[in-house]
Amino acid sequence: MFKQMESNHTQRLQLFCDPDSGLKAIIAIHSTLKGPAIGGCRFISYKNEEDAITDALRLAKGMSYKAALAGLPHGGAKAVIIRPEGDFNRSSLMQEFGKCVESLGGDYITAMDSGTQVSDMDQISKHTRFVTCTSAIGDPSPYTAQGVFEGIKASVKFKLRKESLSGIHISIQGLGHVGFEVARLLHNAGAKLTVADINPDPIKLCQSQFNARSVNPEDIYSVDADVFCPCGLGAIINDDTVAKLQVSIIAGSANNQLAEDRHGDQLAEKGILYAPDFLINSGGLIFVASRYAGLSQQAIKSKVHHIGSALHQLYQESITSGSGVHRVANRQAESILAAAEKINSAA
Ligand code: NAD
Repeated sequence: MFKQMESNHTQRLQLFCDPDSGLKAIIAIHSTLKGPAIGGCRFISYKNEEDAITDALRLAKGMSYKAALAGLPHGGAKAVIIRPEGDFNRSSLMQEFGKCVESLGGDYITAMDSGTQVSDMDQISKHTRFVTCTSAIGDPSPYTAQGVFEGIKASVKFKLRKESLSGIHISIQGLGHVGFEVARLLHNAGAKLTVADINPDPIKLCQSQFNARSVNPEDIYSVDADVFCPCGLGAIINDDTVAKLQVSIIAGSANNQLAEDRHGDQLAEKGILYAPDFLINSGGLIFVASRYAGLSQQAIKSKVHHIGSALHQLYQESITSGSGVHRVANRQAESILAAAEKINSAA
């Protein structure tokens, strides 16, 4: 655990256990240098507890980088509630988790993530005010999807020199909260879609509503398209998949898309433009942090719209510096965090 914390530069790792409700929760706080750490709460099954801790630590770091590049007054964190096997009372579990969040005194603000929904955030809010995505605030997914759409437009303009998405072929992996909305936006913009999901229901909807073609989940990597848009799982750019990819651009919402940084280098060598996940998928975080701070819908929309131009700048800098886009993005986020550390230690 300490080795992982050290290599991720994580400030705190908290473990919570409540035998009555069956709660086993992990909160990883990567950084509070720029303000209270914010990040979603996952509620999924894990093979073992080590995997759950690794997931929380990796995702927390990504949240710090995301908040830094989005210019938000927050650090990054992530929570994981390990989904109990057998029967459990979901409301009690979420309420108990609310008490855990409250015990951190505002260092961590929780939010929705894979496996949690607005109603869970309402249960959590019974015991803490350090929670967002409640029914008073809403689901961040449409804002994440809008940011991904802006990012795809900017990437197509940069790489393919096309102003419009009309006729651009885009393959989408995962048609959940974000992926389905991205599919809708792309279809409305005239793009041609190939989709894959392990769940047949959203595929049928994409076929009927967006005229999409579908492929088996394992075949999505080798689709000959302009853009690959991963909106399902993490670590999908790995030793097995890099060789299969036949696209010009990878731009999607999934967190931690690169299994390792070297896979980003391999994409650059293949001439594939990669939109760093923690920048292109920051629309949801911008929404939750801004709503938490009481900003207007209009201000939030314009910040999300800005994701496209932020990506464009990053692509330019990658060319100027000769470094892969993912490395430039990491360096930018790290220098923002280092500057915050300097200010904090001087104070
Ligand atoms: P979701 O759980 O609603 O959707 C995920 C979809 O992926 C589901 O439809 C699922 O069936 C599908 N899927 C799972 N395994 C698959 C496989 N092997 N092949 C194809 N499809 C598969 O999640 P979401 O909220 O839409 O988020 C999608 C991704 O974006 C996640 O990685 C999430 O961490 C990331 N993300 C989401 C938000 C947000 O606002 N929801 C914000 C930032 C990042």
